[in-house]
Amino acid sequence: MSYTRITATPEYLLRKEVLALHAYHVPPGTDMVKLDAMENPYALPPQLRDEIGRLSADAAINRYPDSGAQRLKEKIHQLTGLPQGVNVLLGNGSDEIIQLLAMAVAKPGATLLGVEPSFVMYRMIAAFTGMNYVGVPLTENFELDCTAMLDAIQHHQPALVFLAYPNNPTGNLFDAEAIEQIIAAAPGLVVVDEAYHAFAGASFIPLLGRYSNLLVMRTFSKLGMAGLRLGFLAGGMAWLEQLEKLRLPYNVGVLTQLVAEKLLQHNDVLLQQAEQIRHDRTWLYGRLVGTVDVRAYPSEANFILFHVAHSARVFEGLKQRGVLIKNMNAAHTALTDCLRVTVGTPDENELFIRALQESIHQSKNDI
Ligand code: PMP
Repeated sequence: MSYTRITATPEYLLRKEVLALHAYHVPPGTDMVKLDAMENPYALPPQLRDEIGRLSADAAINRYPDSGAQRLKEKIHQLTGLPQGVNVLLGNGSDEIIQLLAMAVAKPGATLLGVEPSFVMYRMIAAFTGMNYVGVPLTENFELDCTAMLDAIQHHQPALVFLAYPNNPTGNLFDAEAIEQIIAAAPGLVVVDEAYHAFAGASFIPLLGRYSNLLVMRTFSKLGMAGLRLGFLAGGMAWLEQLEKLRLPYNVGVLTQLVAEKLLQHNDVLLQQAEQIRHDRTWLYGRLVGTVDVRAYPSEANFILFHVAHSARVFEGLKQRGVLIKNMNAAHTALTDCLRVTVGTPDENELFIRALQESIHQSKNDI
């Protein structure tokens, strides 16, 4: 006889935080001009692709990866110019590192503090790990509200603070002095998330030696390796040796290690692509600013946030014209009628601007 055990239902078994979550939605981008996910739009030079092909063919994928990924870490150390005594922890993307940090500090009642609007995974991972989440609103210009941050730190005593530098989805670099005040006031760890560093140039890595509660996180996703899944956390040994205990032993696969090492040997290619993207960001920003009904926010990242009337209709109009960007409208009240576009190739950017102008025109006629 078969019967259902009432305990074996998701509603009964799962934590209420999990039941309350909405899955991170990734829309299909096949056959679209894909400007929604801050990817680098460029392929690698043919010679480098061939080299990677040969390396991958010879890779020992029947073996587990080198758990310590020593060679890759040394390469990162050298290229990033990390100060003496600073160590590196590797993650399967920086998302995994956010999760690992939260798991490490998630004592009952512990708080993760971020700003709003910012990268949504900080809030989601706080929920995954049962932490309290506090999101301090940014000012109207998306700057840090330093007084509100210091008050919130005083009041909530967060174990973990995340600040994206530049911030996603707003694209700006927060005031560095305000961040320093936050690091100095925080009773716990402050993680400066430099996912978009390649397009901004500014960094907190030189300050790692000054503040023992500061950690800096970066990803290779925006630099042309989103498909490999590789991010890193840089910080003092006292923290990293503890955090290493939580890292799953083989979180960075054989092919990721191999290909990332090869690409980092050719870092100049990646940096040149990033430089091109920065250059095209200026063009794209100028065109957005010059588009009627659009208010664009200045960006130090590889994407631009902009406000447009009837954003839902404009977003759909873009999709109908084969261009996928990100609709931020529902993400936060400060983002009402905001869309975010990733800087693509010059051709993609032109196509996007044309499609945007047509969509805006159409959205007015649809009323
Ligand atoms: N931090 C920020 C600020 C991001 O915007 C993203 C990706 N959108 C990430 C971290 C995660 O990147 P990944 O997991 O690809 O390294």
